[in-house]
Amino acid sequence: MIILKNCKVLDIHHPDDATLYSILVVDGKIQRIAAGELPAKDAAVVDVAGKTVMPGMIDCHVHVIASVANLGLNGRLPNTLAILRAVPILQGMLERGFTSVRDAGGADYALTRAIEDGTIDGPRLFISGKALSQTGGHADFRDRYDHSDPDPCGCNRNAGAIGRIVDGVDAIRKAVREEMRSGANQIKIMASGGVASPTDPIGNLQFSVDEIKAVVEEAQSHQTYVMAHAYTAAAISRVARLGVKTIEHGNLIDDEAAAVMARHGTYAVPTLVTYDAMSKVGKQQGLSDDTLAKNENVRLQGIEALKILQRHGVKMGIGSDLLGDMQQYQTEELEIRAKVLGNFEVICQATAIGAEILDRQGKLGVIAEGAYADLLVVDGNPVEDISVLVKNQGEKIVGVMKGGTWVRQPFL
Ligand code: ZN
Ligand code: ZN
Repeated sequence: MIILKNCKVLDIHHPDDATLYSILVVDGKIQRIAAGELPAKDAAVVDVAGKTVMPGMIDCHVHVIASVANLGLNGRLPNTLAILRAVPILQGMLERGFTSVRDAGGADYALTRAIEDGTIDGPRLFISGKALSQTGGHADFRDRYDHSDPDPCGCNRNAGAIGRIVDGVDAIRKAVREEMRSGANQIKIMASGGVASPTDPIGNLQFSVDEIKAVVEEAQSHQTYVMAHAYTAAAISRVARLGVKTIEHGNLIDDEAAAVMARHGTYAVPTLVTYDAMSKVGKQQGLSDDTLAKNENVRLQGIEALKILQRHGVKMGIGSDLLGDMQQYQTEELEIRAKVLGNFEVICQATAIGAEILDRQGKLGVIAEGAYADLLVVDGNPVEDISVLVKNQGEKIVGVMKGGTWVRQPFL
């Protein structure tokens, strides 16, 4: 039992609440919240002295096994190396205040288990298993001269691979069933071309309508949902109409596609910091001027996309999608968005809306009775100054608690 006292609570229901609360944490959950003091009994009491207590943040688009920015090379890392390198990536996310992350392709159930049983530290991990891609699609990293079998064993289980190649309605149904059997929380598909993949221009649509319908039906049969990588308005409207729950990236959206998303209740997970990071460090990382120009275009349109999505009332979760050394920029996604959407809106995206995307509303992303005790103690008020969540890898986040256990304990 732990009591946090003198807490200034910040979440979607407390945008600007000056009351000082006490929060009682029992068995990993928030059991009581009350203004003023709670009887201590056997609880360890931590006086946070008026600091902000907010829910742990949720990043809805990460790749925890991507230690190498070139995903083709990452997919060929020896399994042991790929997994060992995921450990500090997961720890870094937790240290920055992300107590839940949704992996958009690559992480497997072994990592989930290792975190749950305390073998390694990390956020709650919601995995997709391997992302599904068609031949020549966004997770097919062979160049034009490479005609090797991308998946000789029938299902790509290289630990460092973010995706697997699958074509045809029957094959894709089986792939979903395999990923679900292996412990996936949701299914990820590549539904359009991308920025840095070798043979798929960004304007391509990927997978047939029948294939996508089959994935959506299978995911729903397994009581879960589909997240789709999609950039263009055409790709976005198509998959939103077919019933996917979240659109990943979505930079090239227009008003018409945003209206389709709003009508279908589709969520957006923009990932703006990844283009920002590429423009900062891409040259050193050996990206060509051509790729950098393409990246700059997508980056600027991504900022525009925030305004379009907001105009149509489409709900947005936080995504970062960073690879390799760039993982360290994760929280800068908040600052980039806040310039367009305002601080409080972005805090809601990083907490309560993230929980809706994960199907954990009321359990994650809120400071509420019955919710998991995933919370941050912040020295400062993020509504006034979002940078307190960002500075120096979370230096102002003086306390991080996950499931009632301190990852970083304030004042020690
Ligand atoms: Zn993607
Ligand atoms: Zn991604």
